[in-house]
Amino acid sequence: MTSRTASLDRHLSESCRIEKPDRYQELDHLPDGPIAARGAGLSYVAASFESHATSVCLGAFDRILAFDPTVRSITVEAGISLGKLHRFLAPLGLCLPVQPGYPALTVGGCVAADVHGKNHGREGTFGRHVTGLKLLHPDHGMVALAPCDDLFTLTVGGLGLTGIIVTATLSLIPLAGTAMIMVHSAVATIEDGAVALAQLADTSDMAYGWFDFSTPNHQDGAGFITSARWITDQTARTDDLKAPSLDPAQALPLPAFNRLTMPVINHLYRWSNLRQTKVRTPLQAVLWPALGRENYFKFYGPDGFIESQILMQRDKFAEYIKAWRLCQIKHGVPVMLTTLKAFTGGKQSLLRYDGAGLSFTIDVANTLSSLAFLAELDGLNVEFGAVSSVMKDSRLSMATVRAQYGDYDTFRERLRTYDPSRRFVTALSRRLDL
Ligand SMILES: Cc1cc2nc3c(=O)[nH]c(=O)nc-3n(C[C@H](O)[C@H](O)[C@H](O)COP(=O)(O)OP(=O)(O)OC[C@H]3O[C@@H](n4cnc5c(N)ncnc54)[C@H](O)[C@@H]3O)c2cc1C
Repeated sequence: MTSRTASLDRHLSESCRIEKPDRYQELDHLPDGPIAARGAGLSYVAASFESHATSVCLGAFDRILAFDPTVRSITVEAGISLGKLHRFLAPLGLCLPVQPGYPALTVGGCVAADVHGKNHGREGTFGRHVTGLKLLHPDHGMVALAPCDDLFTLTVGGLGLTGIIVTATLSLIPLAGTAMIMVHSAVATIEDGAVALAQLADTSDMAYGWFDFSTPNHQDGAGFITSARWITDQTARTDDLKAPSLDPAQALPLPAFNRLTMPVINHLYRWSNLRQTKVRTPLQAVLWPALGRENYFKFYGPDGFIESQILMQRDKFAEYIKAWRLCQIKHGVPVMLTTLKAFTGGKQSLLRYDGAGLSFTIDVANTLSSLAFLAELDGLNVEFGAVSSVMKDSRLSMATVRAQYGDYDTFRERLRTYDPSRRFVTALSRRLDL
């Protein structure tokens, strides 16, 4: 089937062939020519499709194959969604250690993007908890991989370019609670927020900062820090996870977020969070903060948005943010969403968004002035030694990624050594010349 396919940020939309096999037999006959592996297709960037490739969507492969509660291990087909897995595990008092923010995302997508979750300091990224994979490549067949294999390390965070992950074995942890007490504390500047997050890194179960940069000329990023602790709430339910459809191609005909509405929305959001400083939040809202807020993505209108997510060394952040502010004022770009999370204990390698420091994320409307602002930030990010998440920012060039990631050439060479004909291709891999 050929259909118009878009990245979640709507920066790119292409006409692509999508196949949805539902039997192992069909996987024995993968399409000739370029292939793109695809899970739920919800990545911000065009990571699971390309106009000349056939996307092979693993959505129908969503079964639990083996489960051993004694060693807390589960083997699943890679198309299983995080929500389906959670519905099985939560009643047994177990969960995945790392959960990104939406239940429709698939395990295959989380392995290939090596995603991060709520508490990087404690749990690291998704790949740290994968203990086995089965990978299918038309030229190599199906291979079982363990963490000690080179191909395993190339596949975790490998952007789907080594083949189709058919199954994954994952370590589990006890579910620490069924709800969280979230405490919101006001901060006057983002620099204050960064200091507060550093103090909370070891003491809270989850912490992040939200800041207001929606009026380019007026603000220092007043916001709030949220720190949270697990509690057990007997009334909490785990079985009502219905993810509404999140279709990247759907948007309002005109953007609802603009330079007039963004400051009002940000002001109200900050006010409503600080009005009630201690909030009991059910598990579902903790795990999937975007669930029920799908309109956020549609409100940017047909041209969509760009997310820039960078990992920056903590001791350089205050100096960086001064330069960042000057750049924002120069370009006059309102930022709709600004968040900060602490990453601790991780190690940056290949093209994985991992390491130690502060993860600084902004969402801006996709406009010419935003693109000029972000292009200038690319240079600043290289100068400050930051790395940008290739899975979030649709405009990053190969030159920027190469300048930021010391392992860019290694990743590219290892892919070519393993797969000289480079069968797996996506719009992302094409842009980054991988
Ligand atoms: C609302 C929302 C919240 C999010 N929150 C977070 C967050 O908190 N933290 C975070 O890190 N990310 C977050 N993300 C990003 C998301 O976790 C990743 O983009 C993830 O890869 C998407 O999974 P998917 O199933 O949609 O994969 P797709 O978008 O279909 O594919 C993503 C990548 O994985 C590859 N892939 C998919 N399935 C397979 C497979 N079976 N075999 C081989 N390769 C495969 C694709 O080729 C592609 O490179 C969020 C996304 C959304 C929409």
